[in-house]
Amino acid sequence: MVIGELEARKQIVYYSRKTHAQGLVCATDGNLSVRLSKERFLITPSGIRKEDVTIDDLLVIDSDGNPVGDTRRPSTEYKVHLEAYRRRDDISAVIHAHPPKSIAFTLTKTPLDTCILPEVVVTLGDVPVAPYATPSTDDLPGSMSDLIAVSDVVMLARHGSVTVGATMAEAFKKLEKLEHNAEILIYAHMLGGAQPFSHQEIHRLQGLRDFYGIQTKVRGCGCRPEWNDSKAACSGGEGECRSPGENPEALSPADLETLVDEIVRRVREAL
Ligand SMILES: [Zn+2]
Repeated sequence: MVIGELEARKQIVYYSRKTHAQGLVCATDGNLSVRLSKERFLITPSGIRKEDVTIDDLLVIDSDGNPVGDTRRPSTEYKVHLEAYRRRDDISAVIHAHPPKSIAFTLTKTPLDTCILPEVVVTLGDVPVAPYATPSTDDLPGSMSDLIAVSDVVMLARHGSVTVGATMAEAFKKLEKLEHNAEILIYAHMLGGAQPFSHQEIHRLQGLRDFYGIQTKVRGCGCRPEWNDSKAACSGGEGECRSPGENPEALSPADLETLVDEIVRRVREAL
């Protein structure tokens, strides 16, 4: 959805301030943008506190990042925004933020599990984490390019988040959910660790996306690492994995061979 420039300016200002007010960016961190047309993008400028942004502070850049009729510099991470738009024809808004709790997970290499709360399974799916890349360089958009192509939410290791949507409101909602999920996970860790969903429940929840008409692009929760550890059959695709003891008809070849051997042994014993 492409909106008029004045409306786009108002939305960026509104969500810039909201992002700062909710502690999702600090000082001059973070940047927000809206796609105005195929070749024009409205973005926050470099070096401005997001709580202070006004509609006149924003500037238009072209698809190479050059300011259009402007001498000011765009946000230093404009390349991340342009890469997201390049990979996703279906989006018109991008928010790059520094949500502290979510970032903490990438610092400690603790999995930022987004597959344990029902609404997050449905709306965000399995949020991928891009490997660390130096901010403001070409390495950063390169590190997240393939991930933003398949997921509306991507974490940048040691750095922040990128959330996208058809509107600024959608991109912000995903950012809020991401950080709220991280906060709940921290509480769960303090209380002994979160218990994962079963494969069946994950599958049921992912089925609700169609029921509710949710159009966001997400990576399915698919296989759980702990299921892989227990040698469960796991291809990584949605609906093709199982937790230990579940779905016995989907045995791996090795498990099937063991089962057949056991049946043969018992039959021989009974003869
Ligand atoms: Zn940043």
